Formats: sequence, structure tokens, C-alpha cells
Amino acid sequence: MNTIQQEKVIVIDFGGQYNQLVARRVRECQVYCEIWSYKTPLDKIREMNPKGIILTGGPNSVYLEGAASAPKELFEMGIPVLGLCYGAQLMMHVLGGKVERAPEREYGRTKVILDPVPSPLYERFPSTMTCWMSHNDYISQLAPGFEVTAHTDNCPVASAQCVEKNLYAIQYHPEVLHTEFGKQILSHFVLDVCECAGDWRMDDFAEQQIEAIRSKVGSGKVLCALSGGVDSSVAAVLLSRAVGKNLTCVFVDHGLLRKDEGDLVESVFGNDGPYDLNFIRINAQDRFYVRLAGVTEPERKRRIIGEEFIRVFEEVAHQIGAVDYLVQGTIYPDVVESGLGGESAVIKSHHNVGGLPDLVDFKEIIEPLRDLFKDEVRKVGLHLGIPEDLVLRQPFPGPGLGIRIIGDITAEKVKMVQNADAIFREEMKEAGLERGADQYFAALTNVRSVGVMGDERTYDYAIALRSVNTVDFMTADVTEIPYSVLKKVMTRIVNEVDHVNRVFYDITSKPPGTIEYE
Ligand code: GLN
Repeated sequence: MNTIQQEKVIVIDFGGQYNQLVARRVRECQVYCEIWSYKTPLDKIREMNPKGIILTGGPNSVYLEGAASAPKELFEMGIPVLGLCYGAQLMMHVLGGKVERAPEREYGRTKVILDPVPSPLYERFPSTMTCWMSHNDYISQLAPGFEVTAHTDNCPVASAQCVEKNLYAIQYHPEVLHTEFGKQILSHFVLDVCECAGDWRMDDFAEQQIEAIRSKVGSGKVLCALSGGVDSSVAAVLLSRAVGKNLTCVFVDHGLLRKDEGDLVESVFGNDGPYDLNFIRINAQDRFYVRLAGVTEPERKRRIIGEEFIRVFEEVAHQIGAVDYLVQGTIYPDVVESGLGGESAVIKSHHNVGGLPDLVDFKEIIEPLRDLFKDEVRKVGLHLGIPEDLVLRQPFPGPGLGIRIIGDITAEKVKMVQNADAIFREEMKEAGLERGADQYFAALTNVRSVGVMGDERTYDYAIALRSVNTVDFMTADVTEIPYSVLKKVMTRIVNEVDHVNRVFYDITSKPPGTIEYE
């Protein structure tokens, strides 16, 4: 066994919206952490020998028939348990307290008042703090042996504890950044209560994954879909470290890449470069354009691009011979938006997430980055020695420009958006804003309108510019690009890109907008 993994905290998933954030915060405390479903048998959890257990929030009500539950013994193993929101309610419910529909529900920023009771979670905190609440139910009666450690105007038990048994219940969400001291609370739990050493590093994650993949794959053959984006590049290099020559990386140029990107990817990851990836480039532009002709519905476009990808892969796989594993650079935000992250709603389908059509004959999919947020993937990439320029690149979606062209796709429209995008990127760099925004690009709206150029009437397309700042890509603010920069970009685009006569700057945050358009 890998010694690095000895010290871990288990996050038990009850389908809450912020589960991965909980895991992420624990990792930020430099403690290794894994998420397991609430259906995981107790014996299995015991076997993992965690230093601590965190129960997440969830959409159910503990008192209803069939609600996600936990056995009483979970709280009697002598392992510290922290329940968050639903997890807190469940702890009380299972241990003999009472949970009911709250007379006053609480959502969003709420003032929490600490009670004058010493608590290891609130060590040296001021007596009030702002927290993020999101609940309909509340704890109306404590389980025996517990004491209240904080309340709000509407909620008599904002947190409670039974120090003797190391059980802690918190109604609000310490994992979200809106909760003041949230990170410290989780850090107090994992470091002080659970007594974790806090010496785990993201580098360890990479090494653990390499070990785990190596022992899983053995001498099996692995095929990796390399898009040249950050996620798939990191996944590919990770796999190459794990299985060496058994890896083949296929880069499909679907004709929906940024300007000159295909050549760039080939120059970095190709067989003349520093990596040992058995790199194969397939130029499949025409196939994709033919299949996409006339298709306007976003989900159908995504599906077609995804399916065509799989077909191309299948063909390559046949040429290579039997393939045992398929690697994908899926990361956590892809999983959530696809509705595979517990109970959260489907926002968009991702061609790189789960559910491959039956026609594919691979034994298993490996997704080494599935639990990570973008910035964490970048840390892994840097650890693996991938050049900063590549690792810090902005994200680019799998379906590429296909979802940045609203409406139907034609080769001509692809050219327009590529050229406009290249201008936008050049000017952002010129203005020193290259690293000042986390993702920025041009998209082609399907809007045509009347303009005048050289005294002539035009009836041409509008380009939308989008630029956002975000840490984890789950929520995002619009970049405040100086007007002079926007103006220059506008002038260059209408002058240099044929059939564009207007430029918009999109000022929508996420939510309500997503970062991409389709
Ligand atoms: N469904 C429970 C409630 O409404 C828990 C909510 C949550 O965990 N965020 O109180």
C-alpha cells in the first residue's frame, strides 16, 4: 500500500450542492480526502480507517420515509464526525434529537451568534460571524449529550457539539467562501479535532494517481483523447508517467479549434517533443462539418461532436489493436454540470463525461482528474513538469468552437470566429491582461444586422466577446476590461474579419449565464 494515503478524511455524500467544495477545502488544509456515497457499507468505511468523517448537505428531509440515512454505529466508532447541514440534521435525528420543518427558512448570508461555550471549531473567533445558510428544516431538539455552540435569529441550533465523543453538527455551510472563517472551521476540525498532520500535497495526489493507474492497468493498452487543452494534457502526461509505452494519445482535429491550435498541439505533444505519448493526429475537419451541417440545437451539436469523436477513436483503436482503457480529462465542474455530481441538475451535456455509446469496445474509462477543480488540475500539471504556458492556459471546451457558434456551423463561420478570437487574444496580451482574466474568447452570435461600411449597406454577423474572472469556474464575474482595449478589439475585428459588422461585450455573470454559450 501507498504510505501517503494512510491519513485521510472521508466525505460522505448525501447529494448536496457543495460536496466537492467540502473535499476541496479539506485538501486545502493539506489533508487527503475522498468522497464516498452515503450508501457505502459501514465496514468499508471502517476498513479505510479515516481520521475523520464529514457528512455533507443534501436535498432530503431526514424525517421523511426513504431519506438518505446513516447507521447509528457510524457515530460510535470513535472517529470524529462533522455533519454539515443535512449531515448535521441527520446526526441529531439518528442520535435521538429532533428535526422539523423550520418556521423560518434561511437562505444566503446570515448572521451567526456564537454561544459562550468553548468549542475547538471556534477557537479564538469573534462572537458573531456571517455564514451561508440554505435550509428548510432545522434542529428543534438536540440529541442527548449535545450542547448548542451557535444560533441565529431564526435558528436555535446553528451549530452543536458533543466534545466528549468528537461529534460536531453545523447547520450552515463552512465550505462556501461566503461563510466567514469557514475554512478555519474545517481546518480546526481536520487538524485539531481529527489530529491530521496536514502534510499532504497536491503533488502527492499526482504520485498516488500514477501508482494507482499503474497497478490497475498493468500491461493493458491505454488510449487517450488529447485535445491539447489543460485537462487532457495533464491527464495524458500523468498516464504517460504511469504506463509509458502502453499509452497512445490521439489528437482529433475536429475543425473547431482555435486559430492555429492544431499545429501548436502537435508541436508540443508530437513525437518530436519532450513527451512520450505515441502521438497520432487525425485531421477530421470535413467529417465533423458534414455531420454538423444545418444543426442548430445546442445539445444536438454537442451530441454529434461527442459521437463523431467516439467514432474517430474507435477507428483509431481498431488500427492500434485491442485497447483496454480510454482516458479522459474530465474534471469536476464537467461532472456537476452534466448532472453526475449527486443530485444537481443537468445544465449541459459534456462530450467528455461518462455514458459512451454502446459501439465503443473499451473495458473501462479512466478519469484521473474527475474530482479536481481547474486550479487543482493546474497544480498537478506543474508538478508533472508541463510548461507553465500550457498549464496556465485558459480552458477550452471539448466541442470547441462548435458551441461558440450559436446556430448552425459552417467552415466560413468557423473562420470568422477563429479570426475574431485570435484578435481578441492578441489585444488582451498586448494590454497585459493575458493573466488578468481566467477565460476570454470571441463567439459568433447568429445575429445578422444592418450596418454601413465604406458607405455601403452591410447585412452581417455580430461577434460577442466574453471574458470572465473566476477561481473554480463554478461561478464567475465579468472582467472589467478597459474601454480602450475593447474599442481597439472592436475596430480590428470589424476591419479584419469578413462578414462581421458588430461587436458586443457580454457583461453577464455566471450564474445566470454559463461561461460558454451553448
Ligand atoms: N434538505 C435539508 C433542509 O432543507 C438540508 C439542506 C442542505 O443540506 N443544504 O434543511
